[in-house]
Amino acid sequence: MSYLQHSDVLDIYVEPYIQSGFRLPNQPYSYYYRSLFSLHNETLSVWTHLVGAFIIILQMLNHIQLTSSPYIISYIIYNGIGACVMLLCSAQAHLFHSRNLQDHLRLFYLDYLGINFYGFISGIVHYRFSRVDSVYELFNESTYYSLLSCLSLYSLSIACFCKFYYRRPYPFVHKILQCSGVLIVYVYQIWPIILQIIACYNCKSSLKWHFAEVLSFIASGTVFVLKFPERFHPGTFDLIGQSHHTFHGFIFLMGFFQSEATYRDMLQLKDQIKLQHLQKDIIYACVILTLELLIIYVSLRLGFIRLEKHYEKHLEKLHQNFNRNDGNITSDDYESIKKIE
Ligand SMILES: [Zn+2]
Repeated sequence: MSYLQHSDVLDIYVEPYIQSGFRLPNQPYSYYYRSLFSLHNETLSVWTHLVGAFIIILQMLNHIQLTSSPYIISYIIYNGIGACVMLLCSAQAHLFHSRNLQDHLRLFYLDYLGINFYGFISGIVHYRFSRVDSVYELFNESTYYSLLSCLSLYSLSIACFCKFYYRRPYPFVHKILQCSGVLIVYVYQIWPIILQIIACYNCKSSLKWHFAEVLSFIASGTVFVLKFPERFHPGTFDLIGQSHHTFHGFIFLMGFFQSEATYRDMLQLKDQIKLQHLQKDIIYACVILTLELLIIYVSLRLGFIRLEKHYEKHLEKLHQNFNRNDGNITSDDYESIKKIE
């Protein structure tokens, strides 16, 4: 396959400082599946999450094998599903987002849903197993769950809003809004654990894993915001080594360390967990997932019209270039694709 330069594609498909390795737009899905096995600027972003999801599943199976409590096994699966949803939603977004505007918006909204759904699941698991009662006395369970739900829904809504409202070059407020939701949800659930780490790092075997989890989260956010190293050498790290690859690596590590930490916490509290806890947490997760799908549906309805209007002229040009016919790729297109490939 041969690839396009950043000036040849819509700017919505272009990340800052990435200049080459863009796949063709408006191709059949098979073209994007095949692109998994060639090196372009999204290849490593997809594979880091696919491999990450595979490792999380292996880790989950290992923890299940070492556990006899059916409730703990259910929570291991509960946490593992949250992590895999996040990683796989992100992988599919990177694989197909540059196909057309509709796919771009739809798939990145699903990516945001994965991130926020995992944020919610993590909040539940942290509260259920990693709490220290004296710290959580500030919140009773209902208050904690209600606030966590509201923050998760806010986080997804603001991410969707940023995607359809702002256009490149993004103002600084875009970055603040984009990061604020995820940051608030994470800080809300992790601060009692950070207090435990500060107070007595060696008191529980899980705390060193929680510490690694927090460091990975901070590292992922830092790399994401700073765009290091491509900021200093635009175009050099397009295919290998751009900040988004490192960002994905840290996000995987965060999920991996969190699973190790909460697994140890689960073993300590396994006799206190009852069926009604599990039922409540599953119901909460289903309700949040439904509401998040609803937010995505509304955002798509609002966002696509705005996006299509903004890129109307660019799209006309693309349609002429690729000689599209009623949304189908014509035989002429296949000829032109073959030539380019
Ligand atoms: Zn990503």
